[in-house]
Amino acid sequence: MRSLLILCCIALVLSACDALNSASSSSGSGNGSALDLNLFPIDKDKELGNQVAGQISGDPKTYPLLDETKYAKAYGHIHRITNKILNSGKLEHRNDFDWQVKLIQDDKTLNAFCTPGGKIYVYTGLIKYLDSEDDLAGVMGHEIAHADKRHSTEAMTRDLGITTLLNIVAGQNQSMLVSLAKNLSDLKYSRTHETEADSYSVQYLSGTNYRCNGAASFFQKLQAAGSSQGPEFLSTHPDPGNRIQNINAQAKTKGCNTTNSAPDAQYADFKASLP
Ligand SMILES: [Zn+2]
Repeated sequence: MRSLLILCCIALVLSACDALNSASSSSGSGNGSALDLNLFPIDKDKELGNQVAGQISGDPKTYPLLDETKYAKAYGHIHRITNKILNSGKLEHRNDFDWQVKLIQDDKTLNAFCTPGGKIYVYTGLIKYLDSEDDLAGVMGHEIAHADKRHSTEAMTRDLGITTLLNIVAGQNQSMLVSLAKNLSDLKYSRTHETEADSYSVQYLSGTNYRCNGAASFFQKLQAAGSSQGPEFLSTHPDPGNRIQNINAQAKTKGCNTTNSAPDAQYADFKASLP
């Protein structure tokens, strides 16, 4: 069971909840429809999130979590940013999930991810790579959207057979949860979900004073650094141009703020508080 749960974690980190890594373009069939059908009760999102969070905290080698007491200042910053987005008044499940955010000490990973039920993880590499707090808020808005729009259980609803689905939804025993975790390991976010998460990032940030198209900056920076980052890096971040265009179009439609709001010194202080 442990290995299955670890698989679930790995899947979430590498694909299912990976903000920056769109589902592969070749897995298009079945991904295109935006039916938004989800047969799972909210509690299953929370249960899954708790399972994955437990596995992450029990595997410090793979997920070296930054100590919250020792790095209280860094956590102060990430909590402040997270809470501003969560309290934007734009979330669907703000009060349904037990939202949490943790930092992972890994400067080589430019990423963040979120489990179902709202456990957010941000790599130090991403924080150091980005130039402003507004940019980070954009990526975090994208992550929060995956949980808030319940993309994992929506994808499971789409991909699992009806019998399996009904068993999981109705089942109370551990074997069903294990089966659920196992199935989760095969899921990837579709392009539809990635686009939706980008759009909701704009929506959430429009309820804050952050630049609402902050999520576009990450892709702009990647695109600008294209040749030096290597083609293999860009191959896992497809269509940055389209995503930038979509995010900016959403911002234009909403007429929300598109200039940085957070002081540069504040983000510099956040970076300086990291190991
Ligand atoms: Zn994503």
